[in-house]
Amino acid sequence: MDFKKTIFLKLSLLLFLTSCSQNEASRFEFALGTFCTITLFEQGQASIYNNIFTRLNEIENLMSVNILSSDISRVNAAAGIEHIQVHEETFKVIERAVFFARLSGGAFDPSVGPLVSLWNIGKDNQQVPSRNEIEKILPLINWRNIELDKNSNSVYLKVKGMALDLGAIAKGYAADESVKIIKRSNTPRAIIDLGGNIVVLGEKKDKSLWKVGIQNPEKDRGETIGYVQIPEKTVVTSGVYERFFEENGNRYHHIFNPSNGYPAHNGLLSVTLITDVSMDADALSTAVFVLGYNEGIKLLNFFPGTEAVFIFEDKSIITTQGIDFFLTDNSFSVKQNIF
Ligand code: AMP
Ligand code: MG
Repeated sequence: MDFKKTIFLKLSLLLFLTSCSQNEASRFEFALGTFCTITLFEQGQASIYNNIFTRLNEIENLMSVNILSSDISRVNAAAGIEHIQVHEETFKVIERAVFFARLSGGAFDPSVGPLVSLWNIGKDNQQVPSRNEIEKILPLINWRNIELDKNSNSVYLKVKGMALDLGAIAKGYAADESVKIIKRSNTPRAIIDLGGNIVVLGEKKDKSLWKVGIQNPEKDRGETIGYVQIPEKTVVTSGVYERFFEENGNRYHHIFNPSNGYPAHNGLLSVTLITDVSMDADALSTAVFVLGYNEGIKLLNFFPGTEAVFIFEDKSIITTQGIDFFLTDNSFSVKQNIF
């Protein structure tokens, strides 16, 4: 081998190594109150990851109830007092949340804030409130008392003590915003996972479909009961396992039935939605989880192209017809679906 060739080979090896070291296959950070992992595979430039996580923090700063200066905290503090002008994207998410509240007959209700604070599920002071305490705050949970003014992007909660909580929809919105950044960067394939709010993007290298695992609702995080096989889609689950505590043999989880103030209980362990827009999948999975199977499928009929996997307490599973679901845990069984 001549000298020039050796230099050339060494140079290309060096370039290859530097380009490898500049690329991160995936990045993991805590944002939006959950563990977020973005995987850009071989195109993982630091700048793209930075842009995505900056965007997630921006959304959190606007929409989190845990940040005092957020739009949502400001609206909540002004309940019964005055209209608050919010960022147009906060307005957009609240508007969409109210849309799903109307459509689900209030099963999904972004004014669920007082219930979330009363139960404090997942926090140190989580507790089963007295029936009296629940009855007292129930009238505050009413999406009809959210007044929206599109011209000024302002929001008014009509009753003092009302509070918005976008926990059931904001992660979906954030996932959609991450998709935009990834698409703009021409990254050929990616996985967005915002605490189980998943989007698979583009095509796998070998052109096969993506396999997205469905959490086993009775097991530790990461243990799946099976997987769905899909092209570019979002997969969002609402389930009893996400945040809960147990008392006297009862499990109390974080998704409330706004009509009685207790964690929704209708035989479901989880509902997974598979569709194109993550914000809609997020809101719908929560709504359908609260509605239960029979009412839930009626709601899903409004959204053609949206598929679902229902996992029940009796260890049965029902899937909609348009989804390829593969069971890997044989302690569960798949019933054939009817819709
Ligand atoms: P998800 O995991 O998307 O189903 O959202 C659950 C989160 O949404 C909870 O932690 C609450 O912050 C909020 N939430 C609970 N119950 C409801 C409900 N019925 N409608 C809307 N948001 C809810
Ligand atoms: Mg949700």
